[in-house]
Amino acid sequence: MEQQKRLAILGSTGSIGRQTLETVDAYPHLFEVYMITANSSLDLLIEQARKYQPEVVIIANENYYAQLRDALADLPIKVYAGAQAIADAVTLPEIDIVVTAMVGYAGLLPTIRAIEAKKTIALANKETLVVAGDLITQLAVEHRVPIIPVDSEHSAIFQCLVGEGDNPIEKIILTASGGPFRCHTQEQLLKVTRADALRHPNWKMGHKITIDSATLMNKGFEMIEAKWLFGVAPSQIEVVVHPQSIVHSMVEFADGAVKAQLGTPDMKLPIRYALSYPDRLVSTDRKLSLTDYATLTFERPDMVRFPLLQYAFDAVEKGGNMPCIMNAANEIAVAAFLADRIGFCQIAETVAHAMNTVDYVASPLLDDYIATNSEARNCAARYIETLK
Ligand code: MG
Repeated sequence: MEQQKRLAILGSTGSIGRQTLETVDAYPHLFEVYMITANSSLDLLIEQARKYQPEVVIIANENYYAQLRDALADLPIKVYAGAQAIADAVTLPEIDIVVTAMVGYAGLLPTIRAIEAKKTIALANKETLVVAGDLITQLAVEHRVPIIPVDSEHSAIFQCLVGEGDNPIEKIILTASGGPFRCHTQEQLLKVTRADALRHPNWKMGHKITIDSATLMNKGFEMIEAKWLFGVAPSQIEVVVHPQSIVHSMVEFADGAVKAQLGTPDMKLPIRYALSYPDRLVSTDRKLSLTDYATLTFERPDMVRFPLLQYAFDAVEKGGNMPCIMNAANEIAVAAFLADRIGFCQIAETVAHAMNTVDYVASPLLDDYIATNSEARNCAARYIETLK
């Protein structure tokens, strides 16, 4: 029998985390859950811990530590709390693959530690590469650690590159669904609510990424993620709106050939591939039936109505800590929008303010990123106060 791969799933209670556990359910002979972590979803984390009986369970929010420990007291599970505990535990020698499925900047430190400990990274936390792509990719090369994308677009690009050897990428065509407001006018955008924004047409995802999809910030992040994962310049990445979400992305080569990966909009496939690469596992999930789709369409994104996509290109061109500033301000602005404290268009306004205000650092080290992250969050929070 093949040896089971032991997984550490960071963010096991989120959308990607839950689907990773469902993947383990489908292939129990291949995967074993060694460690799970959550930010603050205590009840679900307890339920998952009792079901999968991992060696290690960690809750990032330390206020829940006692409750978690007491709830699992009858099981031989090591229970910890806090961000530092997560960053330490990913280095445990038994772990083979670290699935980084937590939300936001919180992914940065544990990803760094996991790379240093030579764990294969199944990367679902795109913010890590947005914030510190230079640092992460350098570390991965240095420690010879594979970073396998879980994001559907990047999984598609990764799959298009299998077998291409040294053939250089001419262009990446990154597809975007366009989100729920693709056809909204500027005027309509000013009035959209939290509920409208959370209604994504194709993908079922967590709240943060669903809002990022509605603003196209998510596509901006994915452009930066692609730059780092595949070593291309931003000018080689074309974002194309494809509302059906069937073509998950494409790669153009020097001879003009364009390869695409297609599938139903279901994160299970990229998760499965990241865990099983280079093998493909047999799946009974619903398969793509192209005749169910009368047309597949492609159009240019509108960066005037969706300025955050333009800001992502601006931030990555400026480089340094600018993408980190953008990400931090966006996290604060999205949280404020989800709390009904600001309007939809004020998310971009807040990000622009932080990008224009926070000190620019051209060649940041890890400490600079940590300082920038907190400075930009404060800057965004102060700006939001003035919007009331
Ligand atoms: Mg994606």
